[in-house]
Parts: sequence; C-alpha cells; structure tokens
Amino acid sequence: MKQFETILPVDDQGYYGEFGGAYIPEILYSNISNLRKAFTEAIHDPDFTKEIEALLKDYVGRPSPLYKSDALSKRYGAKIYLKREDLNHTGAHKINNAIGSALLAKRMGKTRLVAETGAGQHGVATATVAALLGMPCVVYMGATDVERQQPNVQRMKMLGAEVRPVNSGNKTLKDATNEAIRDWCCNPSDTFYVIGSTVGPHPYPEMVAYFQSVISREIRKQLKEKEGRENPDYVVACIGGGSNAAGAFYHFINEPEVKLVAIEAAGLGVNTPHTAASILTGTPGILHGSKTMLLQTEDGQIIEPYSISAGLDYPGVGPLHAHLAKSGRAKVLAATDEEALQAAYFLTSKEGIIPALESAHALAGLEKLNFKEDDIVVVNLSGRGDKDMATYINSMRK
Ligand SMILES: *Cc1c(COP(=O)(O)O)cnc(C)c1O
Repeated sequence: MKQFETILPVDDQGYYGEFGGAYIPEILYSNISNLRKAFTEAIHDPDFTKEIEALLKDYVGRPSPLYKSDALSKRYGAKIYLKREDLNHTGAHKINNAIGSALLAKRMGKTRLVAETGAGQHGVATATVAALLGMPCVVYMGATDVERQQPNVQRMKMLGAEVRPVNSGNKTLKDATNEAIRDWCCNPSDTFYVIGSTVGPHPYPEMVAYFQSVISREIRKQLKEKEGRENPDYVVACIGGGSNAAGAFYHFINEPEVKLVAIEAAGLGVNTPHTAASILTGTPGILHGSKTMLLQTEDGQIIEPYSISAGLDYPGVGPLHAHLAKSGRAKVLAATDEEALQAAYFLTSKEGIIPALESAHALAGLEKLNFKEDDIVVVNLSGRGDKDMATYINSMRK
C-alpha cells in the first residue's frame, strides 16, 4: 500500500532530513509496522475521519475560536490573533491527539491504552478518552511529577486510569516515557501506546502532527473569513516535544510566505545549565526511538532539562522541528521563565485570559519579533493556566 501522502517533509523511513527514523528494539518491529499500516488505512477511510470530526466538534468543542487581541495588537504593532486551544475540553490541545490515537487503537482491536505524562496534561487527556471509549488505561508518571502535580493525578484517578509512579532515573518525563515503551514491548498484542507529542519512533511524529493538524486547518478557514486571506504572516507556538506547534504549522509548512516561529523554554537562560532549549543548545542524538536534537553530555548522557513550565521540560524535541530549524524553514527563539511569567500577567490583566505557562512562552516570543503594522500574526494559545495556579501564585509572592 502506498505511503500516506503527507505534506510533511518526511520520507518512507520516517526521516525529516537527518532527523527521525525508528530506533526500536526488535520486539517492536511488527508493532510499529502494523501501526504504520493501520494509520495509513484509517486516514483514508472517510468513516474514521468522520468519527474523529464528530468528537472534535461535540465533545471537544471545536472549532476553537480565533480571537483578535486588541491589547497585544496595540503593544506589538501588528494584528495579533490567539488560536484558543485553551478552550478545548480538558484545557489544552492534547485532547486532539488523544482522540485520534484512541479511535485508531479501537479500530486496530486494541483493548488497553498506555501513556506517559509529565505535568499530567497528556495523562488527563488520554484518561478522558479512555473513559469515553470504555478502555482501561495505565499512565506512567515520574514519582517526582506525581508529587508536584497532584490535581492532575487525582483527575486521572477519578477518570478511572491507573497512575503508575516511575522511580527510575530522575523520576520525571523521560523516565516515564521509558516505562511506557517497556509496557508496550511486554504487551504488544492488546496494548496501544498513546504518545503525548510529536516524538518517538516513526510513525508517531507524523501521526501526532496529523491529529493536531486540525489547528492550522481551522486557522486558514477562520483567517479567510476575518481577513480575506488564508495565510498569516507569522505563526508562533511554544515547543516542548512539538505537537501544538506541529498542528499550528502543519498547513503552512509548504507556504513559504508564512513565517514559522517556535519558542523553546530557556529556563533560567540558554547560557545556563538550567534550560530546556534542545534545539538552540542541544546536539544530535537518539532518544525514545528517534534521532533528534537533545540535551546531552559529550558522552551521550541525557542532561536533565529545566523550565518553570512542566510541559516544556523535555530533553529533546520532535524530529520535524529539529529539521524545520536546521533547514531554516522555522525560526527558533527561546523565552526565559521570567519572560513567560511577564507575558502571562500581561495577557491576564489586559484580556482576562490566564494562559498555560507553556503558552506564555509563545506569547513572550512576540517581544523578540519585529512586525510591520499590517502583519497578521497567529499565536497558538495551547492551553489554559488552571493547572499552573500554584506556580503563578508563588511567583507573585516573590
Ligand atoms: C504539553 C503541553 C505543551 C507542550 O507540548 P507540545 O507537544 O510541544 O505541544 C504545550 N502547551 C500545553 C498547554 C501543554 O499541555
């Protein structure tokens, strides 16, 4: 069967330029090739895409609004629009992928979902869809994250998922991902691994980008209605693993007049050891089944990333973004903890929208760009700030 005709710059082996691929243990070969086949068939089946669209509409609440912010427009001297992924059910873009992946799992006859989670947003999204579809769900989460993200742990439990704390390594997202992959290796016949971002072995980065591509599909339609043209001048998004950015960029990747801007988490600064900026400060290597830009020592040990935002606190980045950056198609900038907090307070005080800390990094990126007055800029507001209230309150006390 012919490979799914993607508009992404990816080849049959899952390479985006020099990045990507599928570096997996032999036991997963047949799993991965079944998944590629099932995914390709599914997205060519109108019944499958209809099923996804129906849930995105009536369950998630899509299309998410494209809101023009007068306050941001005035401050930055351009027309600034916010793509309101924060208004989705469960509070972020992650549900778009969870729905597509879980429906694919059901179609493949899988009866059990596993996922990894850092801050808990992807765990909550997967547990939500598992409840909806009546599938048992196990979420792996670093023991450190279990402690610091209690509200999301409780949500997952109430939704009926089993949260398994991971005590290896630094007990955070990287270690949880290792455990989820291990579970999948041990239960290849009945289990579907719902990965939370555009990372992992091929076809995951492509598949997750596809399920998130609804974001840019809607932006085009909404801009056409509001501005009379489908293409903005800029699309700005934060990147952890890169799924919200991949969704926001997707339909613009082959439109060279649209400038794609990815904002990494600088943490305390890209020149300090306390950063999560894997493209700007990392080197090529292999993690979680794919070749990409990583925070690692010279002998290949992963360096623990740091960011105030748990969702950006990952030592790698999706191979699509490593390639977009290297080829010059996307511009990569970084925003520090402090810059993100300032951007979050500005949006909250002027627009009455409390953004997720991750999304606040994208907003902070606006400070670093020079716009013309009639530029149309879309910022992907990937999630809402409810989960970050403790961090916001702490930072106000300082
Ligand atoms: C998880 C998360 C992110 C980072 O993940 P990506 O895959 O890079 O999108 C960004 N924003 C929010 C609100 C998140 O929950």
